[in-house]
Amino acid sequence: MRFKGIIDEISKLEGYNKPKIYKDKLKLDTNENIAIPKRLVARVISKASKIDAREYPINYDMLKSDLAKYLNVKRDCIAIGNGSDQIIDLLLSIGRDTKSITIKPTFSFYIARCRLYSLSLEEISLDDNFGLDYKKVIDSDADILYLCSPNNPTGNQFPREEVINIIESFKGFIIIDEAYAEFARYSLKDIINKYDNLIIIRTMSKAFGLAGLRIGYAIANPSIIDVFNRVIQYPYPVNSIAVNAARIMLSMKNEINNIITTIKKERERVYDAINSSGLSAYRSDANFIAFSGSKKIFNGLLRNGIIVKDLGEINGKQFYRVSIGNKDTNDRFINALRKVRL
Ligand code: PMP
Repeated sequence: MRFKGIIDEISKLEGYNKPKIYKDKLKLDTNENIAIPKRLVARVISKASKIDAREYPINYDMLKSDLAKYLNVKRDCIAIGNGSDQIIDLLLSIGRDTKSITIKPTFSFYIARCRLYSLSLEEISLDDNFGLDYKKVIDSDADILYLCSPNNPTGNQFPREEVINIIESFKGFIIIDEAYAEFARYSLKDIINKYDNLIIIRTMSKAFGLAGLRIGYAIANPSIIDVFNRVIQYPYPVNSIAVNAARIMLSMKNEINNIITTIKKERERVYDAINSSGLSAYRSDANFIAFSGSKKIFNGLLRNGIIVKDLGEINGKQFYRVSIGNKDTNDRFINALRKVRL
C-alpha cells in the first residue's frame, strides 16, 4: 500500500486552481495573445491539419530548424515540449531530494510542481517595487534556481547585468523562464553556450498565440539538450498538427512582430488608464500588467463583463493582473474600469 500512501500524502497539497469558466465575458486573466486575429489562427490550423495521423510525429527536427532560425541559435540547442509547463515539470521530476530557490511571487505552476516532487523550496520575496535582493540568490546553497524573466505575475524583467551576475555566481542549475520574452527588453538565448548549468524555457503560447496547441521549447547548450531529449523527454511530446501550426506561425514572423509592437504600445495606454483611474499599475515587460487596488475590483469588473486574475495579497496589498489584447479588448477593459466604484 506504499503507493496509496503517497497518493494520500499528496492529496493534502494545495495544487493549482483550475480556471473558472465564465460565459460571455472577456477573458483577460491568463495572458493569452488575443490580439492575434482568431481567423488567422483558424486558417493556420486548417493548413496544419493535413497530416497522416496514423503515423507518429516525424516533424520535430523541422520545427527545431525553424526555431533555430527564428532564435539565431543552433538546432542542437533546442528541445521541444508539450507546452513549456511540461519541460519545467520534467526537469523538476528528476530533482529528487534537491533544494530549489525562486522569487515570490512567481509562476505558481513552478511552486506546485516543487511541492509535488518534494523539492525543498526557498522563496525570496520581491520588495514593494518588485525588486530582487540578488545577493540572497547568489548566496543560496540551492541546487536549482528558477527565475521567471519577465516575471509572472509582476511583469517586470530584472536588469540583464544583474541576471548575468547571478548566472556567473550561482553554483546550481538555472532555469530562466522566458515565456514572455517577445514582449520583453532582452533574452538570454545568446549566452547559452557559455554555461553548462543554464536552460532557457520559451513557448509558442504567448507571442505566437498557440496556447491551445501546447508547444513549448527549451534552449540550452547541446550537452544539456542531448540528455533532455534522450533520457528525460517523452518520445512524442507534441502532436503533428501542433508542430505544423507552430512552423507556419514562425513563417509569419513579420505579421507576429507587428502584433507584438501593437501589444507593447497598448501596454502603455492601459498602464496610463489604470493609473488615472486611481489604481496603481506596475511597469511591465510582458503582455500583462499587475495592478493594486481595492478588493471590490474583481467583482466590479466581472459585472461589467471583464475577467482579470485575482492575485491575492502581495506584500500586504491586494493585486490583480490583466492581459493586454488589441485596441478593442483594451478599450473594453478601460471602460469597465471607469464604471467600477473603487
Ligand atoms: N511560464 C510562465 C511564466 C507562464 O506564465 C506560463 C503560462 N501561463 C508558462 C510558463 C506555461 O506556458 P505553456 O505551458 O503554455 O507553454
